[in-house]
Amino acid sequence: ALFSMRVEAPLKLQPAHFSTQVALRTVSEALAKAACQILEIEPGELMAEYRPALTPGGTSGLEAEIFVYDTLPGGAGFSSQLPTRGLELYQQALKLMKTCPEDCDASCYRCLRSFKNKFEHTLLDRHVGAELLEYLLNGVQPEFNARRLSSSTELLCNDLKRQADSVLSFEPNATVQFDGKSITAPILARHGGTHYVIALSGPLTNDHPADPLIRELRESGSPITVIVENELLVRANLPAATRNVLSRLGG
Ligand SMILES: [Zn+2]
Repeated sequence: ALFSMRVEAPLKLQPAHFSTQVALRTVSEALAKAACQILEIEPGELMAEYRPALTPGGTSGLEAEIFVYDTLPGGAGFSSQLPTRGLELYQQALKLMKTCPEDCDASCYRCLRSFKNKFEHTLLDRHVGAELLEYLLNGVQPEFNARRLSSSTELLCNDLKRQADSVLSFEPNATVQFDGKSITAPILARHGGTHYVIALSGPLTNDHPADPLIRELRESGSPITVIVENELLVRANLPAATRNVLSRLGG
């Protein structure tokens, strides 16, 4: 059974991006597990693989495909029952990702991990998978998990403080004014008299600040520069995320 997934900017599934690999690997695992539950068969009797769609939409990151297949030789044909149950399958997969009994930070044996997918555990992130599947089900741009955004912002802020030279200062959750509005900057950086707001985007919405007020600030013509970093890069490669931000601060 082949499932085609189409997204719209700012959501993107750029074929070579780490966040895309994480999202599609995670959704593949969630769909395979959900399918086994719905069809009441043993876990592992169905597996799933993904690929960018072989279309212009695929290369530009707007389309991808997940293929769910039978693992038993001479296959019992379970996967052929899935196309007509797509909605139920997506809903069950989303539920698996959103309601881990451990409420884990990315993935664990209670939600998506198994012995069979042990080489992919670092790619399984239920919050990233949920970001994609929620969009596919509801058609609205989902908000990325707030707890993850705030813990990753804190990681980045602490690392910036450690790595930056002393002409730069960083303040978490600082109040910033623009256009008569008062908003909270996840991180406010000061370099002499110049102010920067550093904010995270969701993993699949690169360069698109998760907080709509930060997007307003960026478009307002305010002298404050907005710097956006990807949440998943902060978690997966903090030194690279910190270097990116510092290079834009001129520090
Ligand atoms: Zn879990």
